[in-house]
Amino acid sequence: MKNNDINDVVVVGAGPAGLSAAYELARAGLEPLVLERTAAVGDVWRNHYDGVRLNSGRYFSALSGSKFPLSAGAWPSREEVVRLLETFPERGGFTVQTNIDIQQVNYDSSRDLWIITSTDGKRFEARAVVMAIGGCRIPVIPKWEGMDTFPGEIIHSSKFKNAQDFAGKHVLVIGTGNSAAEIASRLTEHASHVTVSGRTPPHILPKSIFGIPLIGIGVWTRYWPGTIVDRILSFLQRSMIGDLSAQGLPYPALPLSKQYAINNVVPILYRPFVDDVRAGRIRIVGPIQKITGRTVHVLRTLTTDPDSANSLTTLEPDVIIAGTGFRTGISKLVQVPGITDESDRSVISGDQEFKDAPRLYFIGQVNPLSGLLREIRLEAGRIAKKIKQQLAAGR
Ligand SMILES: Cc1cc2nc3c(=O)[nH]c(=O)nc-3n(C[C@H](O)[C@H](O)[C@H](O)COP(=O)(O)OP(=O)(O)OC[C@H]3O[C@@H](n4cnc5c(N)ncnc54)[C@H](O)[C@@H]3O)c2cc1C
Repeated sequence: MKNNDINDVVVVGAGPAGLSAAYELARAGLEPLVLERTAAVGDVWRNHYDGVRLNSGRYFSALSGSKFPLSAGAWPSREEVVRLLETFPERGGFTVQTNIDIQQVNYDSSRDLWIITSTDGKRFEARAVVMAIGGCRIPVIPKWEGMDTFPGEIIHSSKFKNAQDFAGKHVLVIGTGNSAAEIASRLTEHASHVTVSGRTPPHILPKSIFGIPLIGIGVWTRYWPGTIVDRILSFLQRSMIGDLSAQGLPYPALPLSKQYAINNVVPILYRPFVDDVRAGRIRIVGPIQKITGRTVHVLRTLTTDPDSANSLTTLEPDVIIAGTGFRTGISKLVQVPGITDESDRSVISGDQEFKDAPRLYFIGQVNPLSGLLREIRLEAGRIAKKIKQQLAAGR
């Protein structure tokens, strides 16, 4: 349903979120145009590190019209995710234009249209837009004092491919999120020393309870009061993970919901990390204070108490891997004042609309305990339904 090259709807990004949205839009009778900056559908997952598996499990990770086959096992692998993504357009009957890196999305109020432009000057017009660019668009590495004097490599966790590349090296992993923990744990098999430097003690939870993915508990308790869910999760952490304070990882000071609201970091679900910390294969230290050449000065301990006396110690790593998160870059991409918060996340998600941005939607920007992939599937259906109604009503 195109009118003089005006698209019904343009979807920016062809990851799980963009593909799910396109699938639902096509199912609603619309003709979505999907624009993707990489060379092939599935590239983002294709480039994740070796051995990564979905910790939300096969059942809770199903996308729109796209379940994982039984043969994918309980915890689908990276290869299974790629297979599901690359076959999406054919299953959904829509097309994806690849190698299109969108630079700006502007609303032309005089024509009531969205103008979408790419870095190489291509221009698309659409009545509705779904932004499906993910939360991991721009890797962030903090500016540590003296980091330019470090003779070794400093890389972002998104560039980590496999632990063999670091054989025999002392690797300092920064961050206590799920990726940092999993990378540190995988490194223990090949690196000479693995140290994790963190600022905030992480929540650590079992990936599954009696064979049921933790995500299932998140689904079941999605609309329960936060305090009750926090109590259940704290009980699970204490009973199934246990106390790691002797190894330098105290229990977090804040309950999970409050900590997540502040730092947006999901709990660690990678059990081998716990075993490695407990066995001393991973050393835990506090945050980096400065770097002088090969020497990295860190606080000796990762503490929940900001007033506690914490002495400095030094490390001499060969490599620093920063598991220090991402920015979305939305405020630069979408030229609508007020559409992002101070951490560059969109203030709307799913079928919510922003007052100065008619028919502009964001998918995949909210990551509840019930799982991002599941949330994406639900949001995709709601967004397609809303856009269909709006376009039919000429709104
Ligand atoms: C290692 C890892 C494991 C994860 N495991 C799970 C799990 O087990 N369960 C779960 O629920 N979630 C998991 N997640 C979180 C989340 O579900 C995934 O990151 C998922 O891929 C998010 O889908 P998305 O489409 O929103 O974002 P992405 O997968 O990041 O896709 C965004 C797409 O948009 C494209 N894009 C970005 N900017 C532009 C632009 N300007 N122009 C054009 N295209 C653009 C990108 O190239 C990409 O293809 C995991 C994340 C990671 C990193």
